Amino acid sequence: MDLLDLLLEDGFKPLRKTVNEWASPCPWCPDHGRDRFIIRRTGSVLRFWCRRCGRRGAAYTYLVEFRQLAPEAARRILGVSEQEMRRLQGDSSHPNSRSNSDARRRPPLIWREKAWLTVLACERELWSGSQKTEDVLHWLRDERGLSDETIKEFRLGYVARTVFRERESWGLSDSREVRE
Ligand SMILES: [Zn+2]
Repeated sequence: MDLLDLLLEDGFKPLRKTVNEWASPCPWCPDHGRDRFIIRRTGSVLRFWCRRCGRRGAAYTYLVEFRQLAPEAARRILGVSEQEMRRLQGDSSHPNSRSNSDARRRPPLIWREKAWLTVLACERELWSGSQKTEDVLHWLRDERGLSDETIKEFRLGYVARTVFRERESWGLSDSREVRE
């Protein structure tokens, strides 16, 4: 199961542009477009990038962020181990990805996974239709002047509860690194 299969399953039909490049409508852009979503094969890895909304990643990112699967479920579908996942995610061979040194400065994979799930949960909360979040949406629209499209594109969410977690459970060391 690769990225092209996943897109086809979801009704987006990537058209082959060159030996290693495809273009399709963007799953994330509200109006999808026609060919702004570029899929490129680098080595054995297919990566995507939307010229409009800027989303990028590989099959794993697609499963977690678009289909909203849990990281374990996404890895199962792709049949890759966590170790392999790390290697793929650390791979910065995509022309639009950040440099290697930036990749090394990124937080641990587990942090990124948990942070994503938090973003998704807060996003779901914002659109849950409760009285509280309706008030928040009114505030975003009327006071901050944001359209629903912008709110969705930048994945704004609402943190309904104050939650504290142990640093270790997010893959962070016990000691707090302080930079002056
Ligand atoms: Zn897009």
